[in-house]
Amino acid sequence: MTWRFDVCVVGSANLDLVATTDRLPGPGETVLGSSYTEHAGGKGLNQAVAAARAGARTTFCGAVGDDDAARRLLAVIADDGIDASALRLLPNAATGRALIGVSAAGENSIIVVAGANRELTESDVSAIATSARVLLVQLEVPVATVRAALSAARAAGVTTILNPAPAMTLSSEILALCDVVIPNEHEVEILGGVAELLRLGARAVVVTLGARGAKLCTSGADDVVVAAFAVESVDTTAAGDAFCGGFAAELAAGASLAGALRFAAATGALATTRAGAVPSLPTRPEIDALLTRPG
Ligand code: ADP
Repeated sequence: MTWRFDVCVVGSANLDLVATTDRLPGPGETVLGSSYTEHAGGKGLNQAVAAARAGARTTFCGAVGDDDAARRLLAVIADDGIDASALRLLPNAATGRALIGVSAAGENSIIVVAGANRELTESDVSAIATSARVLLVQLEVPVATVRAALSAARAAGVTTILNPAPAMTLSSEILALCDVVIPNEHEVEILGGVAELLRLGARAVVVTLGARGAKLCTSGADDVVVAAFAVESVDTTAAGDAFCGGFAAELAAGASLAGALRFAAATGALATTRAGAVPSLPTRPEIDALLTRPG
């Protein structure tokens, strides 16, 4: 089977609007901000950029409005050479936005307005989900759309990966369509634990453990644990997205689950060494350099 792409990501794209302030406002309160930036975000788009920079021929399928925010996101998608032929541009919807306040103490408060992301339908995703060797999805678009993508991919022999974020209770129908489920520690607890995910039908579960690394769990085999790579971490934003994109890219390149786990841990670690989400995502040469670093 020849695939048009290595990795297809079906998921969300947002413009993140980030204001920093001494302290976050309470209800009814106005505070002065000290700086303001806008950048591309959304788990779907972040993970597509991560996969592309990790060397995968990547296509991204999501939904945006017909507005300036969408044009900004399209520029990011083009910059990383990501195929956008299945991206929906919806004339009557607003591109998703995340309004993020960050205090001097590093706390944040976030309002996500899903907008066009909520309009991504089952028929938008079914064909593109069969175009790549690996499908990677999250839960920031409607769950019926996620199910349709997984189902089409599974029927076509595509390897399927679900990053269950934000965490929500998932049916065995969805989990049985997943070759790999990648939650973080918090998400796996909400989902009922690794054993429950495997019982409901996931073939493998990879739990990301932040600065403690990650582990791969399958039924009937010992867990494979990878320690975190020792790096100078400055900002853990998008570490999980980097991990998922790197994992998908390496699996598409033919690696084993354990091989993809190690590659993903390196990708996640590097993303913590730079500030922000998309700007922090590492390239293939950087990942290879960390993987082959002596000691
Ligand atoms: P999320 O961002 O979804 O909560 P994690 O915090 O678990 O995800 O991070 C994802 C992966 O990134 C981890 O499994 C690990 O491999 C890597 N990582 C995260 N934080 C660090 C860190 N401080 N040092 C090295 N690697 C890290």
